[in-house]
Amino acid sequence: MTDVLKSTSSAQIREELLSLVKTVKGQLANADHLYVNIDWKNPVPMRKKNDISVAKSEKSIDDLCQEVAGCKQCSLSRTRKNVVFGDGDVQAGIVFVGEAPGADEDEQGLPFVGRAGQLLTNIIKAMGLERKDVYICNILKCRPPGNRNPLPDEIRLCEPYLKQQLQMISPRIICALGSFAAKTLLKTETPITLLRGRFHRYEGIKLMPTYHPAYLLRNPSAKKQVWEDVQLIMKELNIAKGD
Ligand code: SF4
Repeated sequence: MTDVLKSTSSAQIREELLSLVKTVKGQLANADHLYVNIDWKNPVPMRKKNDISVAKSEKSIDDLCQEVAGCKQCSLSRTRKNVVFGDGDVQAGIVFVGEAPGADEDEQGLPFVGRAGQLLTNIIKAMGLERKDVYICNILKCRPPGNRNPLPDEIRLCEPYLKQQLQMISPRIICALGSFAAKTLLKTETPITLLRGRFHRYEGIKLMPTYHPAYLLRNPSAKKQVWEDVQLIMKELNIAKGD
């Protein structure tokens, strides 16, 4: 009796297993999107066809740069010579964000290349780094005529580019240079004098506001406070001059 039960139950199990295998085979045959050629050196995550969220995240920083190069969303596109997207290491641990390109930057299409840019380069060197080790960009990608302050509408239209840029680079630290950058990123009206000197958070990333190098050119005594802010950044990045 026991043997009969045993053999019946084995046969049932076998049948159920066969039926299960058939079902799985059938489902896989209808799910061609699950089959991918995997390049093990550069594995691509499996995804459903037309998955917009994944497609979005696959946009590279070069794609974004090209998109911004053709941007005509605000009136600055009519007066700019060049779009100033950003420059440096896209895998940098620190991103410096300024306000907007000036005349030299507009001419060359690169951020912080004028007198203020030279001062920023010196600050970066004082940290024991080179410009190629960091990433530098601005809130606005086009120069406001006569270096006037950015208008709220210009910031509103351009900021999504910066947001994507920062998401793609995903640095450990953002250093907001000057009042406009700090207030725009932190969505606050608090003056830079009260914001600087401590870390804040931007989309989960530590953000240190400090004075803009152009302000330092007019007020050299503020260099002391900038150096204090920079030292906090260096501590956070675990770097000492000469590292
Ligand atoms: S400033 Fe920004 S939003 Fe305006 S045209 Fe340039 S890239 Fe586009």
